[in-house]
Amino acid sequence: MTGHRQCAAGITFVLLLIVASTADGQGGMYRGPGAGERMEREQISEDLYVLYGHGGNVALYVTTDGVIVVDSKTTDADGEEIERHVSEVTDQPIRFVVNTHYHMDHTGGNAGVEGTIHKVSHENTRENMVRLNGEKWNAPENRKGLPHIVYDHEMAIKLGGKTIRIYYIGPAHTNGDSIIYFEDEKVIHAGDLFFYLAFPYIDAGAGASSLRWIESVEFMLSLDTERIIPGHGRVTDKAGLGKFRELLREFHEVVEERVQEGKSEEEVASELETYPFGNDPGLAYLRVNVAVAYPEIKAKLGR
Ligand SMILES: [Zn+2]
Repeated sequence: MTGHRQCAAGITFVLLLIVASTADGQGGMYRGPGAGERMEREQISEDLYVLYGHGGNVALYVTTDGVIVVDSKTTDADGEEIERHVSEVTDQPIRFVVNTHYHMDHTGGNAGVEGTIHKVSHENTRENMVRLNGEKWNAPENRKGLPHIVYDHEMAIKLGGKTIRIYYIGPAHTNGDSIIYFEDEKVIHAGDLFFYLAFPYIDAGAGASSLRWIESVEFMLSLDTERIIPGHGRVTDKAGLGKFRELLREFHEVVEERVQEGKSEEEVASELETYPFGNDPGLAYLRVNVAVAYPEIKAKLGR
């Protein structure tokens, strides 16, 4: 594999990318299907926009002193496309890019956003970018895309009279997932702590935790919020996030039942391949996720 870590459509994306690289004989790095395709923009409040399309959902937050962008999709071309969308809604410059986590479909456009821009992430996210996607981020031309402001538990950005709060609750999808809370809008960008409504990918190589993921979801549900931007899928609300919490709970329950019965990890994974989880029949990451959840649940049960 290329070592590019992504999620949701990411595994398919990486596989296709390898094929494309071979076919065009030019390496094909960080281009791939969908790169540079036009993004769909939705205005969700007076000053807040979401960019859908391939890669993770992007938020654009306009203030009188500049724009805060959350996540940057996958490629340099995506970064340029994000700049174009910003210029269509405001004359203000981009001042901050905040990355929710290190996966390439959320950070890959960082170096394509030009100008004097503060790039912000959890400390572990920056580390993961360098360690797990070093092929991209250790290249001299891309290092400008690395976050140079990092935090460990909580921070805030105050710009143009607006506040966004950024929280890290604990290991979940990775070990550096940020919850972005647009306090004045009562909107959350959840990054990939929330897939709407799909089964999550638990990134063990990046220090993720299946069981502790629930804590981040509970925290988001405790905030005063009306709309939630998931990492992938359409904007929803607390009810949508609540369904996702139930999906996570159900997954843990059915794995735990089988651990209690003394079943092996392989037996659990095989049985659950046909289990009807929530609204998501795809279960693209089932085996990966059982591989994370099984030992965690076994340890919890003291087995
Ligand atoms: Zn992700």
